[in-house]
This record gives sequence, C-alpha cells and structure tokens, in this order.
Amino acid sequence: MACAARIREDLAPRIAAFKTRHGRPPGLGVVLAGHHAASEVYVRNKLKTVGEAGCRAELFRLDQSASLADTVALVGRLNSDEGIDGILVQSPLPEGMGEEAQQRVFDAVDPLKDVDGFHPQNVGLLVQKRPALVACTPLGCIELLEREGIPMQGKTAVVIGRSDIVGKPMAMLLLHRDATVTICHSRTVELKAVARHADILVAAIGRPAFVTREFVKPGATVIDVGINTLTSRAEVETIFGEGSRKRAQFAEKGRVLVGDVHPDVDSVAGALTPVPGGVGPLTVAMVLRNTVTAAELRATGKAAM
Ligand code: NAP
Repeated sequence: MACAARIREDLAPRIAAFKTRHGRPPGLGVVLAGHHAASEVYVRNKLKTVGEAGCRAELFRLDQSASLADTVALVGRLNSDEGIDGILVQSPLPEGMGEEAQQRVFDAVDPLKDVDGFHPQNVGLLVQKRPALVACTPLGCIELLEREGIPMQGKTAVVIGRSDIVGKPMAMLLLHRDATVTICHSRTVELKAVARHADILVAAIGRPAFVTREFVKPGATVIDVGINTLTSRAEVETIFGEGSRKRAQFAEKGRVLVGDVHPDVDSVAGALTPVPGGVGPLTVAMVLRNTVTAAELRATGKAAM
C-alpha cells in the first residue's frame, strides 16, 4: 500500500477514539481566497481526504476582491469556533491583499489550530525540537523516509530551497534526526557539487526538471517536492524522451506536471519520489494528521503526535 494510504489508515483509530470521547469529529476549516486554478485542486484534495477519513472538513471562500481585514476576520471567527480544530489558509492569497498579507494571516491563526505549522510559535517550537504542529509537506517527506526505512542519522542531507514552507522546516526535521544538513538556494556556489555529497537530496525549488543526473550521488535518495505545470511543447520535448508517457499526456491535454527533478535522475538515484503521486499525497495525509493532532491537543492538552 502507498505510504500516504498507510498514514491515513493509521489515523482511523485516533479519529474514532476522538469521536467517542468528545461526541464530534475533529474539524478542519480551509480558507480559500480568490480563484487560483492550482489552489482549487489542492483544496479539493485536502477537503476530500479529511472528509473521507470521518472528520468535519469545511471550505470558507472569500472573493478575489476580499481585503486582508476580511481574511483576518474570517480566521478570527474560525479561531473561536469550537467545532474547528485546524485552520488552513491556502496560499497564494490574492495579490491585491498586499505583500505582507500571507505573514499577517498566518500570524492570525491560533497556534493550537495551526495545521499548516506556519505560525511563528510553531516554527520556534520546531527549531527547539519541542512538540509542535509542523508544516505538512516537509513532515510528509520525513514520514516517507521513516516508513521506507531510509537511514538519516549521520547521513549527509542537502535541501535545495530555503522557503519557510518547505526548505527550512525540511532542513530542521532532518537535523533533528541527526542528519548533517546543508541548505542550498539561488546564491549557492557550485550547487551541483554540493548536491552530489547528499545521501538524501530534497529538491524544493519550483523549477521544472532542474536537478539533473550531475546533481545526484549514485544510490542517493531523492525527494522531489516541486510541482510545475508545463504548457510548452518545446519544454516537454526537452525533458521527456520520444514515446514517453508524459509526451503522450501532453499531446492529449496540452499540459503536463513535472517536478524539480529531471526524470533521468531515476537511473542514478537509489530512490526517487514521483510527480505527481509522491510528495503531494503525503502532504495531504499530513493535513489530516495535523488536524487530528490539533483536535487532541485542544481537547486534552496531549496528542499521540
Ligand atoms: P519558493 O518559496 O519559491 O522557494 C524556492 C526556493 O528555491 C528558494 O529558496 C530559492 O532560492 C530556491 N531556488 C530558486 N531557484 C534556484 C536555483 N536556480 N538554484 C538554487 N535554488 C534555487 O518555493 P516553495 O514554496 O518552497 O516551493 C518549491 C516547490 O515545491 C514548488 O514547485 C512548489 O509548487 C512545490 N510545493 C509542493 C508541495 C507539495 O505538496 N508537493 C507543497 C509546497 C510546495 P532563494 O531563496 O535564494 O530565492
């Protein structure tokens, strides 16, 4: 069974126990402001997974023209809604809300309901290796490594990308598992050579097929976090060989998804996560897990975590 499915299955007893004890299911409220095609898909998947697991999963929509104050006010209402244990604000927020909007909205979420793990209180707790709600994507990557029995202790890990959402928490989680961690970014010099040291290489860049074979030590475990949509035939043909499944998909749909890792890496890596179907479903499974954890924490002050 795929890792994400096993994670969901393992949560079933915790959800059942919560319902029995508290007479209601764990509840997730998702805030979606504006119309962003990819966000619509991500939000639908999250609500479906959480709902199908027997939790309450509710969407709270705001118009494209909604203000930052409207969004913060909605978050405030969800903070005081007793049936909502987890709040997730889908990013990106509409540009009209201003540059600081994301930070302001994440700061407004009650840290105990912060299933995204983006509130500074949870980020601080993570850095100090204390129990916290941790960002779902890196948490999903770690869960995959643990469940697949990939050793981390004493291993060299390289994370390409230093965002607050993926790169930084990923590096911190690997560090807490005793890996020796290097974080790379757009100013890193000799990136390929640095990456080639990695036993575990995580790509969270947002550039299609950027990580090629030359970045990868033979046998390394490679986690591809990137999700990029290609709509140009030339780009698709540069990355994917003739007769490949992706070229056929492109011919049919006019677009195709590709990660940050080039498909050729498969022939050098010891293991490589697919895109789609790799980190994406793990992230969604972690939204469910964080919702259950938040519900337990709020109700009893303790969670199975
Ligand atoms: P982001 O905030 O744009 O950060 C990208 C990072 O990549 C930055 O730290 C940037 O460096 C670095 N970078 C950009 N170009 C580079 C280059 N040429 N060489 C080295 N580093 C470079 O992106 P993000 O939110 O972390 O997301 C990264 C990717 O993961 C995106 O494709 C996103 O769609 C995907 N994602 C997937 C999931 C999932 O569930 N699977 C969840 C979240 C994100 P600087 O800091 O120097 O600019």
